[in-house]
Amino acid sequence: MAKPVIFSIDDDPSVLNAVERDLRARYGQDYRVLPINSGKAALDYLKKMKQRNETVALFLVDQRMPEMNGVEFLEQALRAYPQARRVLLTAYADTEAAIASINEVGLDYYLMKPWHPPEERLYPILDELLEDWKMHVRLPYEGIRVAGTLWSLPSHEVKEFLTRHQIPYQWLDIEKDSNARQLVEDTTSGVAKLPVVFFPDGNLLVHPNLKELAEVLGLQTRAGFPFYDIVIVGSGPAGLACAVYAGSEGYSCVVIEKAAPGGQAGSSPRIENYLGFPSGISGDDLTRRAVSQAKRFGVEILSAQEAKQICVKDAYRIVQLADGTEISCHAVLVATGASFHILRMPGGDKLTGAGIYYGAAYTEAMYYKDKHVFVAGGANSAAQGALYLSRFASKVTVLIRGSQPTASKYLIDAMEENEKVELLLNTDLIELKGETTLEQIVVKNTVSNEMQTFDTAALFVFIGVRPESQLVADLVKRDEKGYIYTGADLMLDNKPPQGWALDRPPFLFETSVPGIFAAGDVCYGTNHRVASAAGAGTIAFAMMKEYLKAL
Ligand SMILES: Cc1cc2nc3c(=O)[nH]c(=O)nc-3n(C[C@H](O)[C@H](O)[C@H](O)COP(=O)(O)OP(=O)(O)OC[C@H]3O[C@@H](n4cnc5c(N)ncnc54)[C@H](O)[C@@H]3O)c2cc1C
Repeated sequence: MAKPVIFSIDDDPSVLNAVERDLRARYGQDYRVLPINSGKAALDYLKKMKQRNETVALFLVDQRMPEMNGVEFLEQALRAYPQARRVLLTAYADTEAAIASINEVGLDYYLMKPWHPPEERLYPILDELLEDWKMHVRLPYEGIRVAGTLWSLPSHEVKEFLTRHQIPYQWLDIEKDSNARQLVEDTTSGVAKLPVVFFPDGNLLVHPNLKELAEVLGLQTRAGFPFYDIVIVGSGPAGLACAVYAGSEGYSCVVIEKAAPGGQAGSSPRIENYLGFPSGISGDDLTRRAVSQAKRFGVEILSAQEAKQICVKDAYRIVQLADGTEISCHAVLVATGASFHILRMPGGDKLTGAGIYYGAAYTEAMYYKDKHVFVAGGANSAAQGALYLSRFASKVTVLIRGSQPTASKYLIDAMEENEKVELLLNTDLIELKGETTLEQIVVKNTVSNEMQTFDTAALFVFIGVRPESQLVADLVKRDEKGYIYTGADLMLDNKPPQGWALDRPPFLFETSVPGIFAAGDVCYGTNHRVASAAGAGTIAFAMMKEYLKAL
């Protein structure tokens, strides 16, 4: 932890040196003693300290300085560090100003020059003030801080990215916290772009994209080599399972992930039906374990790097990334999963991130403490989201289109037993209202046709799952919804798909292009479960191995 700072401010170099020497001798071990020769320079330095979230224990300031006197300095400095103790260094002639400043700036003490011997005239006073400061101070948060507004999509994306990478951060809501607003204004010269991410070393990023953020965080965003045996696109359970087996069997392998590892499973507060975890495991815990396992076997995992397209060149499969670079390999696994649709209805686009969240209950739940929130969807993910939100919200209403939720029985039971959760069956979402943030939703009962409007600040959406298969849209065979056909699903009348040039039929999980495999939720016929995706990723690897053997 950075040491708290004791400032000594004096324009007279000989006094400044003497104060510094005495302060260091007594307090140097526990505090950083910082001598500065003008109030203005000290105020500039304080801004940088705020950016690094460092703390000031004490200001020892000369009253008589040309540009700005001691009291004027304290008036400004205390806005940033109101808890710091303040001592004015005065000459006899300044006594009146010093007494007046006891009220003006809550001066703790004024010291007459000279203060020698310090053991009698300086240390006892400062010891007491510093002890008092230590008793009352709330030490600042030392990690990453994200300043933004609750209602902004970029702020939400940054928080989600950090959460998904299990990187702790402190959220500063500039609409509620005037110090946070001041910090943002001071450090960004008023350029109103949010969020601002403050790093402990004093660096900051304004409105960063995920790749910039990942790079500053030291996450790997670029592949170490131009060629791998196996490239995996997507780091959900399917991709990570394949990666663990590929790495463990000595294949060179890289995983490309456009956001953070874990996929949909990573956003689950508690997966209770995964083999071997009788009391459940959170998605981020499962992800952390899988990522470390894959890395231990030498697999590279890139974050915030999107694969845009896959193409074929002779025996090579080439993955083109959003940043324009390419990675080639012999075999690719498309494990890009599925994501929730943006709601196509009035208000859907505009309010995304401003009260409407897609599968993000985990990141945002705590900001809706004691509020009435809504969940759209009746499957497992929606049920988990509702149960998780009920820990914070005063009430969670779940909008279910059908006459019953389709979630697993244990989740339906848990929702029914939960007093805070209300299920609205046969209910269609019709409209989302709000100027800049969500304010109301309009729903319709599909049996009675009755319309109802509810006030709410948040709607968590878990409906409209769609496969993320655009990167192979022009390459492999897919169904009308975009799910990728693999293995036996490609066979028609016992014949492989048109254009298939090999003597053998497609392997299990192989697509209509040899050497390009697909597993998990992106595939046709999947059952959208963590275990199924992990199993599919594992078998896909076994089939890739067969493919590679024959090259
Ligand atoms: C909230 C929630 C709770 C759930 N709870 C459970 C549960 O309790 N039990 C259960 O069995 N199942 C549960 N599921 C379902 C389960 O999580 C999924 O079936 C499973 O995660 C699918 O795994 P996957 O690897 O196929 O794809 P995903 O998990 O969807 O992962 C795909 C990954 O690919 C990345 N990606 C997509 N396109 C690209 C691209 N072009 N470039 C780079 N990366 C890309 C995505 O960012 C994502 O990280 C839940 C799902 C959700 C949303």
